[in-house]
Amino acid sequence: RPEIDRTALRDLLLSSLAPGTVVWNHKVTAARALEDGRHELAFANGTTTAVDLLIGADGTWSRIRPLLSGAVPQYCGISYLELRLSDAPTRHPDAAAVVGPGILFALSDNKALMGHGGQNIHLGASLRVPQDWITASGVDWSDTDAARNALLKEFGDWSAELTDLIRHCDQGIVPRLIFALPIGHRWEPSPGVTLLGDAAHVMSPYAGEGANLAMLDATELALALVEHGINTGQAQTNQAQTALAQYEAAMFPRARAAAEASAAGLDLCFADDSPRALLDFFTGMPTSP
Ligand SMILES: Cc1cc2nc3c(=O)[nH]c(=O)nc-3n(C[C@H](O)[C@H](O)[C@H](O)COP(=O)(O)OP(=O)(O)OC[C@H]3O[C@@H](n4cnc5c(N)ncnc54)[C@H](O)[C@@H]3O)c2cc1C
Repeated sequence: RPEIDRTALRDLLLSSLAPGTVVWNHKVTAARALEDGRHELAFANGTTTAVDLLIGADGTWSRIRPLLSGAVPQYCGISYLELRLSDAPTRHPDAAAVVGPGILFALSDNKALMGHGGQNIHLGASLRVPQDWITASGVDWSDTDAARNALLKEFGDWSAELTDLIRHCDQGIVPRLIFALPIGHRWEPSPGVTLLGDAAHVMSPYAGEGANLAMLDATELALALVEHGINTGQAQTNQAQTALAQYEAAMFPRARAAAEASAAGLDLCFADDSPRALLDFFTGMPTSP
């Protein structure tokens, strides 16, 4: 399970594209089907465009998903405060030693400090709490000192080497809520439009598969389009529909299996007796030869 920093991965993908392929600052505000089978996108900057093939890769709150499905992501019970410690080996050697270069799992009593080490430590302080906890707490989370103090109170009985990760984090703690689409989310095939990644199957991150699935979806969809000889202007053809159906037929069961693993992973991590179940999970895994 190799790790890669998100920024490095994004740069790698973007730098492989011809300049101008990504058109920035075009936030989609609405999408609708046209009578000729194409789809029209409206952008926040006031422009519109009609497209032959529409691939919704726009994440959890996809503007494209409603064309195919009425499903709405639901809160998974976990609220998450994103913490960062930049230049950790230089500025925070103790934190760098605690987290190391891979993943940190620190779990207890329905709470977690989890995340990725390396040059910049990227962590989440997560709690199993009601959906309104972030707002109902009365904490001004945009005030880093107030946010730190609130978190240190929540994790007050934890070891100092772990709470130091909160104590020494950078300015800017970002609150996030974890949402997921129903396990097994799918839709009926529709000409000229499909979804991939979180738009198709957002799930909680506790199987660590979301980015992997998004990239595999994109690869398989591209291969299916190439295999069926689809170029610009040919997205209305039967071959195009075959390509989309081929992609969706493989993607739906793959996403279902990962969503089941994510839901199970959430319960492994957030329990009264955690980390017991996660330890049992890892010790039950086959060891490499
Ligand atoms: C806390 C946390 C930890 C995670 N850890 C892991 C992990 O270890 N491994 C892993 O594989 N996955 C992990 N994931 C999941 C992973 O981040 C997602 O599954 C992945 O980013 C999905 O990629 P995507 O391209 O489908 O969606 P996104 O990454 O959400 O990208 C969607 C893109 O669409 C753009 N967009 C959105 N709306 C619009 C609009 N209206 N108009 C135009 N553009 C729009 C956004 O700006 C964004 O660039 C984690 C997720 C979370 C929340």
